[in-house]
Amino acid sequence: MLDFLNRHLMHPFMAWREGKQHLRHLRALERTQFDPPEVIRARQLAAVKEQLRHAWDTVPYYRAAWTKAGVHPSDVREFTDLQAFPVLTKADIRRHNRALVSSAHDVAKCRVKTTSGSTGVPLTIYCDEPAMQWKAACTVRSDEWSGYRLGQRVAKVWGNPEYRHFGLKGRLRNYFFDRAVYLDTLNLNDDRIAEFARVISRHRPGLIFGHAHSLYLVACALKKTGVTDVRPNGIISTAMILHDWQRSVIETVFGCKVTNRYGCEEVSLIASECEEHNGLHVNADSLYTEVTADGKLIITDFINRAMPLIRYEVGDVVVPSDRACKCGRGLPLIERVEGREADYVVTPAGNLISGISLTENFSNLVPGTAQMQIVQESVTQLRIRLVADDDFGDAGRRKIAELVRDTFGESVSHDVELVDAIPQEPSGKYRFCISKVARERMQEMGA
Ligand SMILES: [Zn+2]
Repeated sequence: MLDFLNRHLMHPFMAWREGKQHLRHLRALERTQFDPPEVIRARQLAAVKEQLRHAWDTVPYYRAAWTKAGVHPSDVREFTDLQAFPVLTKADIRRHNRALVSSAHDVAKCRVKTTSGSTGVPLTIYCDEPAMQWKAACTVRSDEWSGYRLGQRVAKVWGNPEYRHFGLKGRLRNYFFDRAVYLDTLNLNDDRIAEFARVISRHRPGLIFGHAHSLYLVACALKKTGVTDVRPNGIISTAMILHDWQRSVIETVFGCKVTNRYGCEEVSLIASECEEHNGLHVNADSLYTEVTADGKLIITDFINRAMPLIRYEVGDVVVPSDRACKCGRGLPLIERVEGREADYVVTPAGNLISGISLTENFSNLVPGTAQMQIVQESVTQLRIRLVADDDFGDAGRRKIAELVRDTFGESVSHDVELVDAIPQEPSGKYRFCISKVARERMQEMGA
């Protein structure tokens, strides 16, 4: 009943009060996802052309880069014409940040996203409000493919609960509206997992959402302690590789299929599995994707006008597909993503910390970080491998020392190893956090 009221009363009311369009967008997107592939492609092409014209007219970076490359938006008649346009790298975004912002937009009115992206490289992205709402609708549409329905309770297994940044207002909004319960994966132990299990047994979330390795760890702990009554409608695994062995444990414990999702802060949702769980549908209502001969994913975001990302090399390797999906949606498929991989690390007190959240936190907070990898050599020794910018120096080193102390305690020492690059594995995978010692503690928890 509460779920029903929340979906049909609270969400529309809040959307109306905040002047938001995402529910209207959602209704449209639910219809158009079944359009034939050629209709969707034609819509994408028209949207890409419009974004190119907008970028040429109002974004200094593109006008300069395209002039230098001898290309112009009017050259694009087919998707293949886009290949003459230069690729945008993470280094370009870091170097030319404000020159990528459209002169037609005021950054003060944009949503600012800071992220270490999908490869541990910290970036600042500006997104306009209409784009945020459209992207939110695209995300809800794919969330509902998992079996969850908007308005149902959500349980998040996640470092850094977002609502805490907004004080009492955030807590109230979360309590009445977003209805999310959190398990903070930056500080896990048996008691906290047991408490989370009690809460979700009682609250019966429609959706459990989190990083693959955290969902897996929680599933193992529940299995070990005999908790078998948590039955969500959907489970979404996001932001990192979901292995088949993790998927099968999570599905057995929760009695529910896992929906694998792929996205990044820079462009939001990129692709998601549907009910078929066979490949991921590209979010072709926001993005156009290309895959290079060596598997690199190149993304053109045609929704965010404030800071258009055109031919952006997101850093992940994917396996493309030209299959049609049995679900009947015309949205194109990719077979799988070779994305991020991270271990849990363990503190001297025996608490576990999600490596993906840890690295994201550290790389965003340490000034002068171009890329970071954390290696736990022993329970009391960390190695911070860092690709430094010109402005990395004493302030960055002090911040690392402070973060290590606050997160792990006084007994843990660290060294900072400056490196030229943090190479991808041959498969295209990025390993952000490697622990040589957490395995044993994970096994005690049942993993
Ligand atoms: Zn499908």
